[in-house]
Amino acid sequence: MGNVNNKVILRAVNLNKIYDNGQVQTHAVKDVNFTVFEGEFIIILGPSGSGKSTLMNLIGGMDQVTSGELYYHDQAVHTFTKKALSKYRRDTIGFVFQFYNLLPSLNCYENIALTAELSKRAMDVSEIIEHVGLTGWERHFPSQLSGGQQQRVAVARAIVKSPEILLCDEPTGALDTETSVQVLQLLQKINRTLKKTVIVISHDTELLEFADRFFEIRDGRLTEREMGDVV
Ligand code: ADP
Repeated sequence: MGNVNNKVILRAVNLNKIYDNGQVQTHAVKDVNFTVFEGEFIIILGPSGSGKSTLMNLIGGMDQVTSGELYYHDQAVHTFTKKALSKYRRDTIGFVFQFYNLLPSLNCYENIALTAELSKRAMDVSEIIEHVGLTGWERHFPSQLSGGQQQRVAVARAIVKSPEILLCDEPTGALDTETSVQVLQLLQKINRTLKKTVIVISHDTELLEFADRFFEIRDGRLTEREMGDVV
């Protein structure tokens, strides 16, 4: 909790997302309210189909809200055009996904460098590689790396562009328990040393020990829980 300050970085007020395909409406996120402070490590826990990815897409600017308000510092993200959302996404958010999403034809170094080239505020690629514990593996291709190592490359790629927020969707979903803990330890290190706000979305209660605070999402509704609520 050492680097959490009292500045609000994200705030949602009565956030809703309804998917409408013309025939069926799905109310995936229902009147969600939350506040996240700079430097926090937040976990959002929920079963499959509860609205986790939908909420992550809203926070990450990958989709537009149906109603309600979402603020990043003092910026009203819910009013952003698609172009403004894309800039917000590029400049502010680093994404980590369950299945790593690495480019198979690029090696470890190149996967990270590709993202660095797209950013004006990129960190040094070799420094990031050292930070995530992959020094010596630079020339290896994703298929030559373990799942845990591939996720380290994905984490490095997410942070190399210096985003303020790291959004991780089921980052350990494809990993065994021991490797999952190592990936969470890495995210915790990034949270503490690089001062990133980290939001992890997961169904795995084992990860809760890493969180400053956690929320539960069920049927689209988000509730903050106390650490003792889940054993
Ligand atoms: P989770 O990530 O917790 O598994 P999702 O956010 O993917 O949950 O899904 C929440 C609900 O919204 C589900 O009922 C799902 O079927 C529905 N849903 C998700 N994405 C879409 C979409 N693009 N179009 C229509 N319904 C969707």
